[in-house]
Formats: sequence, structure tokens, C-alpha cells
Amino acid sequence: MARRSARQARLDEHVLQLLQCRRCPRVIPPPVSGGAVLSHVMLVGQAPGVREPVLKRPFAHTAGKTLFRWFEEACGLDESWMRTHIYFAAVNRCFPGKAPGGGDRVPAPEEVRNCSSWMNDEFEILQPRLVIPVGRLAIAQFIVIDKLEHVIGRKFRIDHRGVTFDLIPLPHPSGASPWHKLSPGRELLAKAMRMIARHPAMKAIRNPAVREKAV
Ligand code: SF4
Repeated sequence: MARRSARQARLDEHVLQLLQCRRCPRVIPPPVSGGAVLSHVMLVGQAPGVREPVLKRPFAHTAGKTLFRWFEEACGLDESWMRTHIYFAAVNRCFPGKAPGGGDRVPAPEEVRNCSSWMNDEFEILQPRLVIPVGRLAIAQFIVIDKLEHVIGRKFRIDHRGVTFDLIPLPHPSGASPWHKLSPGRELLAKAMRMIARHPAMKAIRNPAVREKAV
């Protein structure tokens, strides 16, 4: 129990520091955090949209609705359970602003680099066993990605900063791309969600006795 408390305290402090970060001059603060959820399952988004800083949680709007529906249908887990049992990280924690041509600006490489220190610390604190990157930018932080159909529906064993875990990528749930609604994306997404539902780390966090020992 003492070990758990120390890790929880470290994660609490980490999230407090993260919320105060103002390292990147072009982004629009504040950073968005899903909270200090001690978990061996980490979901990695890309960057918050314009609504998330106001609502103070990641995946708070339309893309989130789709993402949580995928989990509800495949794993029987609702949004509130997900938010209290899974750690929500992201490539960039601040809204990057709008791109000149419309849509959200893709974070610049130096912003991704700046923000990676937060995720590196989270890997060290949480020691995740399952990482679920959502969308191309998130997936690219861990593996080389050419086409989504080459990586969705597959599980990768990854060693990242001394932590070994399974990586099961998902497409981005935003309505901007129909990839996940059309074949073969639809079938590959269903396969990825089945893999997530069956993963031992997901089973462990659904079982309170196992979860207590694991964290
Ligand atoms: S994007 Fe990341 S590194 Fe940059 S200011 Fe926001 S939290 Fe800090």
C-alpha cells in the first residue's frame, strides 16, 4: 500500500506541474489532463481541440463520443469508467489553435518534442502494460506508420524508454476522416477493439482484486 501511495503522490504532483506548463508560445493554454489515474493502461491522444480546455478533460466533444462508443460496444465499458480507470495522455496537451485553411493546426515538431517530456515521465511512473495510441500522430510516436491499414488491427511489442508494453493502435475517431467507417477500416477497427477487450491489462483493471495488487 505504501508503494501505491508514493506512486499516486508522484502522479498527483506530475499532473499539477503539467497543468501549469506554458513552454510553447504558439499553443493556447491551459494544458488538458485526464487526471492522475494510476493505471497500467494508457490511452494516447493527439492534441486537444478547442472545447477540451473549456470542459477540462480530453476527448470531451464529438470525437470523444465516438471513441467511448467504440469501447462501450467492444468492452462494455462506459465513459465514466474509462475516465476513472485509464490514464489519458496525449502527444500535445494544449490546443494548437486553428490552421489557416481550417481545422486544427498540427502541432509543430518542437511542440511535440517539448511535450514529450510529460509523456516520458508518465511512462516511468505508470509502467504501462498496454498503450493505445489514437490517430496517426499518436501512433507515429511509437512505430513507423505508412498506411493505417498496416497498423490497425495489430498488436506491437514495444520497448520505450526502458518500459516494455503492448501497443494496439486505433484510428482517430473524428468525423474528419471516414477511414474507420469504410472497409477495410471498419473491420480492422473491430479487430483492434477485440484485441483491446481481451488484453490481460484491460482484464486486470476490470477486476478490483487484481487491480489493487497491480498498482
Ligand atoms: S503543448 Fe505541452 S509542452 Fe507545450 S505548453 Fe502545452 S503542456 Fe507545455
